[in-house]
Amino acid sequence: MTVTELLSYDAALAAYDPVMGLEVHVELGTKTKMFCGCSTELGADANSQTCPTCLGLPGSLPVVNAIGVESAVKIGLALNCEIAEWCRFARKNYFYPDMPKNFQTSQYDEPIAFNGYLDVQLEDGEIFRVEIERAHMEEDTGKSTHIGGATGRIHGASHSLLDYNRAGIPLIEIVTKPIEGAGERAPEVAKAYVAELRELIRALGVSEARMDKGQMRCDVNLSLRPHGTTVFGTRSETKNVNSLRSVERAARFEIQRHAAVLQSGGTIVQETRHFHEDDGSTTSGRIKDNAEDYRYFPEPDLVPVAPSRAWVEELRAGLPELPRVRRNRLREEWGVSEHDMQSILNAGAVDLIVATTDAGAPADQARKWWMGELARSANEAGVSLDELAITPAQVARVSALVASGDLNDKLARQVIEGVLAGEGDPDEVVEKRGLKVVSDEGALGTAVDEAIASNAAIADKIRGGKVAAVGALVGAVMKATRGQADAARVKELILERLGVSEG
Ligand code: ADP
Ligand code: MG
Ligand code: ZN
Repeated sequence: MTVTELLSYDAALAAYDPVMGLEVHVELGTKTKMFCGCSTELGADANSQTCPTCLGLPGSLPVVNAIGVESAVKIGLALNCEIAEWCRFARKNYFYPDMPKNFQTSQYDEPIAFNGYLDVQLEDGEIFRVEIERAHMEEDTGKSTHIGGATGRIHGASHSLLDYNRAGIPLIEIVTKPIEGAGERAPEVAKAYVAELRELIRALGVSEARMDKGQMRCDVNLSLRPHGTTVFGTRSETKNVNSLRSVERAARFEIQRHAAVLQSGGTIVQETRHFHEDDGSTTSGRIKDNAEDYRYFPEPDLVPVAPSRAWVEELRAGLPELPRVRRNRLREEWGVSEHDMQSILNAGAVDLIVATTDAGAPADQARKWWMGELARSANEAGVSLDELAITPAQVARVSALVASGDLNDKLARQVIEGVLAGEGDPDEVVEKRGLKVVSDEGALGTAVDEAIASNAAIADKIRGGKVAAVGALVGAVMKATRGQADAARVKELILERLGVSEG
């Protein structure tokens, strides 16, 4: 294999403007497939979730999944698109063994949603508007597994296995208009767009949009044109990129590769490319010129889809608060900086903090526990925050115990440790571990005074500089309060009374 020539990123941007097009496929979370009643559940035995329709047997007839259409309209509305008054499915004809009908049921010149936009927020807070060309409905193909080759690709394989469980699962394809003007931030814009789209899809509840499970995948189209020119260059299309980081890396790599080709006087071939996770490179796939002909024609076996305006408005009215709006609202309510909000987002703590405040905790306390003690525990255990064995309600209870003075921060951390260790609810841990602070400072003061009075010799030693001797007095107070005092506070009080500082 030849080494791909790359120009440095800075040199590439000094000479060219990138233009991008992002095509994102989202697998909908419907219970059944798009055109038949087969289950969409993952993990079943190969070909156990199939029927004559999704196997394309002669005489079988498709029926449109209403939830699939509803999800498509919701996505279109959330992307500020117009919703078609009337549209049809189309047959995209081609032969490949993972698609036994010999055509994919898709939409062509009549997409259900078109002409929208999605505003995405970049890391420095700037908003970049990505315009949406269309969002259309289609179906997934089956899955082929190539056996016997070294790479898992068909090349070199002795035979292939086919699983049609995925064939017919509803997909929504969302295509952007050419994204211009992002300059050196093009890779960042690509990543931020896919991230925002993923949040949006999740907020709509139409898919979990897990990229690692293939529920959302992105094709990155990219071309360069010299500064000051308007005609688009020839694009490459890097297929099926399946993580946010990879979207950014793929765009970056292609910018550097295109620039190297163009600068040496070469021409870019219009082709698909494969992205490689290991080194972030892309390699050539198949040549794809515009003459590619799928012989699209309207699907004769399905009725047209004509969403009534009343229904569309009903769906619009029912849209949830959109992620960017919600994030900004919470950021203001919580009084945190853009930067801190970004950390909260990255930690996956937004919903947990919201649930903790819903359970009665002040936002700053909820944030403090989730982003502090609990983030550390999660990190140590190598799990995400929502996988920790503590609920937002329990965190709120710990926070309430601190607010009422029953616990101080140090004891609260021990309570949390106990909850995480499965010792029960915060109140049970307090009880079992005897962690309650003697909240009455007066009572504590009396116990301290008594301990000093009845241990005069030790008190003198401490006054004389033997601070280490304080342990004996702390012990006496703890005994007198039957272990219910906060030892650190007791120590503080004793040293205060004796006029000694610890340092
Ligand atoms: P195809 O089916 O060949 O992938 P589409 O029109 O569905 O074509 O998608 C192409 C994507 O690439 C769209 O997002 C489009 O805006 C974008 N695009 C088109 N031409 C260019 C170009 N020259 N450079 C970069 N992106 C482009
Ligand atoms: Mg494409
Ligand atoms: Zn089926």
